[in-house]
Order: sequence, then C-alpha cells, then structure tokens
Amino acid sequence: MSRPMGDSHKRFLQTMMRNGIISSVQAKALYRHCCETHGAHYLPDKLEEFIDVINTTLQPMFMHIRKGSSEEDGAQHYALVNMAETDITRMSSDYADNELELFRKTMDMILDTENGIVSSTDLLNCADRLQTKKMKKKETEHVLNKFVQDKWLNEKQGEYTLSTRCIIEMEQYIRKVYQDLIRLCYVCHNIVLQGQICENPDCGIKMHYYCVARYFKGRIDPHCPSCSIFWAHEIPEIQSEPQSQSSSARETATPAPSTSTTRRSRRL
Ligand SMILES: [Zn+2]
Ligand SMILES: [Zn+2]
Repeated sequence: MSRPMGDSHKRFLQTMMRNGIISSVQAKALYRHCCETHGAHYLPDKLEEFIDVINTTLQPMFMHIRKGSSEEDGAQHYALVNMAETDITRMSSDYADNELELFRKTMDMILDTENGIVSSTDLLNCADRLQTKKMKKKETEHVLNKFVQDKWLNEKQGEYTLSTRCIIEMEQYIRKVYQDLIRLCYVCHNIVLQGQICENPDCGIKMHYYCVARYFKGRIDPHCPSCSIFWAHEIPEIQSEPQSQSSSARETATPAPSTSTTRRSRRL
C-alpha cells in the first residue's frame, strides 16, 4: 500500500523541481523543514521512506528522485530524474541543435579520457567543427557557461567534467552509449570518470579519488587491491562531508553548492 503525498512531500518535490539536484545534507535539512512547516511527523532517519512516498506518486509520470555520489568528494546527492528520456534529448527543450551537438561531443571527449577532464581549448576547437552549425569562441563560452549553470557540467580553471547531476540523470545512457569506454570503480562499483588507474597494464583497475583516499587511509605502503602492485599515485586526502550547510536548497532556486576542493593528482 502506498501512502499518498502530504503537503510536506509536495513542498519537498517543488524544491527538487526548482533545484534539479541537492546534496544529502540539504535534503535532510529540507525534509525537516517541510515536516515542521506542515506539521508532519518528523523522524530524522526516515528520509528515504519520505522520498519513496514521493517516488511512488512520480512513477506514472516517469519521474524519480534518484540518489548518487559526487565524483569530486563522494558526497551523496539526490537528483530529480526524467525516466522517459534517458539520453541527451531530455535537454532538447532548453538547447539549440548545435548546442546539443556540442554537449554530445563534450561527453564523447570526457568519456574518452583517463581522468574525465576536457579542457576549454579542446571544446573551443570542437565547436569550430560542429556539423549542425559552427560556433564562434564567444558563443561557445556562453553555451559552456549555460551547461555549468544548468548543472550539466562542472568547470574549474578552464577544465570541464561531467556534473553529478549529469551522471545521475544520464547513467543509463552513458552505460549504453559508452559501454566500451566506461569503467566501474573497483571500490564502490559506480561509474568512475575522475579517478586513479592502477599502473600495472595487466590490471588497470580504476578508483574514484575519494575511494582511493578512503581505501588507503592510514596505510603507509599502498598496494593495488586487485593485483597488489605498489600504488604509485599520490593518495588524495579524505574530504570530510559537510555536516551543516546553509539551507539554500530549501525554497529558492539557488544551486546546490559544490563544496569540494578535492585535489586531483594527475597521471603524467
Ligand atoms: Zn568509487
Ligand atoms: Zn592493479
């Protein structure tokens, strides 16, 4: 028997619709806020059940609130996902054809790298060769900015990565289209784009930076969990999960902030 949505659930959903994605810290705060505002019984550890009620109602509309991790720091997030359109066509109402082509190319390039990062220079060059309609530098920068604002891409110092929202929403698409390219993290078994790869060519397992950090925590002499060869990468530091954050996800459309400062230790 599924419970019907109450006002607290509706309020939660409305905020999810405005934000698209929120961190689990924000989700917990929002859950509490929604319950308190509408006089609903609040049980701190029942967020999942609360979301299940919303998901049951969303099912006939092919929508779903799905949980996933940030590639930056492993922090859990909740994204409102459109289940009917699992590929880039979900973005077609917001973007022109050449913008979609640029996004598709961006995904192609990111998935084809070892570290899940593509430079703005590479993207600008690519935009100059689009088949639908070429883009000039200024226009490309504007569109890339829009992808970041709409939370499809992350940008740090001219380097672009797929956002948490993009990976959660397009996971099925990514698994299908890039099945020969994607790697699953040895530790958490989720898709890993940004991470470290075992130096042993016969092994080559890949792990998220934060999974590496957690796995090798406190070990002075790290070895690959699969082939036991010495793990020759710099071990990233563990990012502590933010315990309290501003309640910006509550009622406004303020984007869920990425608090990560994960250091990327690159392969040369
Ligand atoms: Zn992992
Ligand atoms: Zn190995």
